[in-house]
Amino acid sequence: MGSEPRQLHIFLFPFMAHGHMIPFVDMSKLFVSRGVKITIVTTPLNSISISKSLQNFASKIELIVLKFPAAEVGLPDTCENADSLPSPDYITKFFQASTLLQAPFEQALLQSRPDCLVADMFFPWTNDLAAKIGIPRLIFHGTGAFSLCASDFMRLHKPEKNVSSETEPFLIPYLPGDIKITKMKLPSNVREDTETEFSKFFNKVKESESNCYGVVVNSFYELETEYVDCYRDVLRRKAWPIGPLSLCNNGAREIAQRGKESTIDEHECLKWLDSQKPNSVVYVCFGSLARFNSAQLKEIAIGLEASEKSFIWVVRKVNGEDKEEDQNWLPEGFEQRMEGKGLIIRGWAPQVLILNHPAVGGFVTHCGWNSTLEGVAAGVPMVTWPVSAEQFYNEILVTEVLKTGVAVGVQKWVPGVGDFIGGEAVEKAIRRVMEDEEGGEMRNRAAENAEKAKKAVGNDGSSYRNLDALIEELKSLAF
Ligand code: UDP
Repeated sequence: MGSEPRQLHIFLFPFMAHGHMIPFVDMSKLFVSRGVKITIVTTPLNSISISKSLQNFASKIELIVLKFPAAEVGLPDTCENADSLPSPDYITKFFQASTLLQAPFEQALLQSRPDCLVADMFFPWTNDLAAKIGIPRLIFHGTGAFSLCASDFMRLHKPEKNVSSETEPFLIPYLPGDIKITKMKLPSNVREDTETEFSKFFNKVKESESNCYGVVVNSFYELETEYVDCYRDVLRRKAWPIGPLSLCNNGAREIAQRGKESTIDEHECLKWLDSQKPNSVVYVCFGSLARFNSAQLKEIAIGLEASEKSFIWVVRKVNGEDKEEDQNWLPEGFEQRMEGKGLIIRGWAPQVLILNHPAVGGFVTHCGWNSTLEGVAAGVPMVTWPVSAEQFYNEILVTEVLKTGVAVGVQKWVPGVGDFIGGEAVEKAIRRVMEDEEGGEMRNRAAENAEKAKKAVGNDGSSYRNLDALIEELKSLAF
């Protein structure tokens, strides 16, 4: 009688923001379905939403819960997730608090001694801890190969230093496709000359990417072939594209339970969509962190009404706009006029469920990578409205490389609240992706990509095989 084969054991450590936790939870399900033992490390409040999202997998995945040191850095006690920061200015404090997780995390590693660690990009210090116990640390950025390449070439060659104005387009050196960008669209840590706590932290993040064992990428080879090759062959990173991760979820309940509890009942939402014509609804959502002010929300409403499309619009307002005039941000009579034509969700929507409904024909997105890839996997053309982070790179991928979307026209990287866009631009962009020959061509290309995405994660698809190869390599290191 032989003994049971030893199970590979991986620690997953997501950063405390929904755009990071959601793909990590999906990844945990994928690993478990391939026979890997998974432990997710997180903090008390985040463990609640992670447990819910795990659904049928909850009993198969171990959670280690570490106290989040919010008070130690002057954050409110309940602030354990980037979406509950009092304002975007608190992000540096939030990074400080997450760095204080180092000691308890080391304790957890020493106790469990897993075979491998997949840790978020925002935990650069995990490289050293993994080295200390002699296991490989893989990094997960949550973004795709195009933006990984673009940001690395920017960091290495600093082409923005050679332009005379913030608005002069310049080439991103070595990035395939002759891709241009302007200085205004770059993250503040790249744009600014002075060293800040934020830029120092980002340098550490980038260093840890160069020194870690490899990179798990939520993308698929057929979507970003040139850029995956470039990342591997030119930038010399070991990378495994294993996505789209969102496709690992099955059934309305599991899909609707990703991230936070939906503000709207999923059946009610689906019923409303069922009453709409195919490809007639535009879905508008800016992810888990962006919060627009009243003036911007009003312009979106004006643009939506002028586009004459039905819509689902997920609204998140900036904190602190409590005055009466800020409460009345919708144009007069808007809700009455839009009755039956539009659904406003104030809070959290079951995004992937909505995107995959046949009635949805356009997606106005902030180009967070999860949303972008979820739009790709659903075959929906996009209106791109980047706000911050690496979202401007993702916009270029969608509008110039994949050609499955049009830009609403944002010119400036502004964390949290975004650059201001007028209603007319919103209307125009929505009409372009949803009407006429141009919209039809984008829809056809989007449908082809969605097909490729499904093949990639299916049996023997590229992402399926990459995950196999990764698991085999980790086993060969461990056993
Ligand atoms: N999301 C959702 N409902 C919402 C808002 C966001 O399900 O109302 C999900 C979305 O499907 C995606 C994630 O939250 O998986 C947001 O990640 P993304 O990278 O797009 O943006 P971020 O929130 O990090 O800016």
